[in-house]
Amino acid sequence: MSTCAIVGINWGDEGKGRMVDLLTKDFDYVIRYQGGGNAGHTVVNGYGRFALHLLPSGIFRKGVVNVLGNGVALDLENLWTEIETLRAAGVSVTPDNLKISDRASLLLPWHRELDALEEARLKDKKYGSTRQGIAPFYSDKYQKKTILAGELLYPGRLREHVEDLLEWKNLTFTGVYGARPCSPGSLLAWLEDYGAKLRPFLCDVPSLLYAADKAGKRFLFEAQLGALRDLDYGICPYTTSSNAVAAYAPVGAGMPWARVDEVLGVVKAYSTCVGEGPFVCELHGAEADALREAGAEYGAKTGRPRRVGPVDLVATRYGVRVQGATALALTKLDVLSGLDRIPLCARYELNGAQTDEFPFPAALPDAKPVLEYADGWRCDISGARTWDALPAAARAYVERIERAVGCPVRYVSVGAERNAYIER
Ligand code: GDP
Ligand code: MG
Repeated sequence: MSTCAIVGINWGDEGKGRMVDLLTKDFDYVIRYQGGGNAGHTVVNGYGRFALHLLPSGIFRKGVVNVLGNGVALDLENLWTEIETLRAAGVSVTPDNLKISDRASLLLPWHRELDALEEARLKDKKYGSTRQGIAPFYSDKYQKKTILAGELLYPGRLREHVEDLLEWKNLTFTGVYGARPCSPGSLLAWLEDYGAKLRPFLCDVPSLLYAADKAGKRFLFEAQLGALRDLDYGICPYTTSSNAVAAYAPVGAGMPWARVDEVLGVVKAYSTCVGEGPFVCELHGAEADALREAGAEYGAKTGRPRRVGPVDLVATRYGVRVQGATALALTKLDVLSGLDRIPLCARYELNGAQTDEFPFPAALPDAKPVLEYADGWRCDISGARTWDALPAAARAYVERIERAVGCPVRYVSVGAERNAYIER
């Protein structure tokens, strides 16, 4: 068996989609194993520029089978829109190159509504949700109170299940939020509409992958978000509501018997964070604005300006550890080319002492960054395609990061386009 997980080491938006699109050339299956349509994985290739939300980033490669595993939040409406957008751009999406697990749970319109109601209730204490319904969806999934995609193939059972769920869900809408109840008619119509469109893609994914595994195929697991947004290991409660770590990949993908052979952790050459929560290395003012503009740091899903800072060696070392990363891809090194000297967050200061260890979430708001500086290179590196073509200062910066976090950097990305990278 040959399996590799491509995962985020930090807060997400590290460039996972870009690396998956590149590396699918070496794999037969690309599988999304968690998260939902709140992702924004940017891919720039011969078809154009895309922000993928649910579709695996292997969708552009002929011969690759893309899979949405049981661990994803399956939002049929967003998925269908995405499929149509790709088809309009000339990308083939068919039941041959896209398989949806019949064991994936459905994210329903009411999850989005509940997400918005709860963020509104929280007011200035909001978690910074993208309001795509992810948290309400996963809570319902673990309460066993949502619908499995495969139920779309059993209309009689589905109707009865929807009515039971609605009776329960409307207690929350009316009693907790004082909102209007949902009607079974509109939900059933929604399910019928998107069910008809997406039923052809449903399949028994574990059986499919088991057979593929026996046939010696190669599997790439694509994560959404990063280690610091993992439900269990991240900066709770400013995390997502599923496990983004590589260890969860086989379970969420539909091959729970598998081991992950390689974990490629994606790290950005500086830090960004979308939404709320403690972000120790955050820069403010003109320095932040310049970095945000240089890196075009606006959310791929939401358009929200991303918070920015120097590379955070404390958080990155922690991310490498929880991901079990065997190698790293360092992206967006080209963005730092304009700087005379490059700040790095080397340690945190907490309670009057310096630490290398990533703190417990409740202690994070009190941590302060301890900055060090590396020499800049002050020239355009976006055309570099070999390690030796990088200026010495750029190589030294990469080596400093890999030393500090204890994991080799195998790929350096110097542009958003598929071929703008260096393999060492
Ligand atoms: P993901 O969610 O981890 O897939 O990352 P996003 O797509 O949300 O954010 C990464 C952004 O950086 C996208 O706009 C990419 O097109 C862009 N990008 C990725 N790698 C590079 C790189 O090496 N250089 C530059 N300049 N942009 C990059
Ligand atoms: Mg993203």
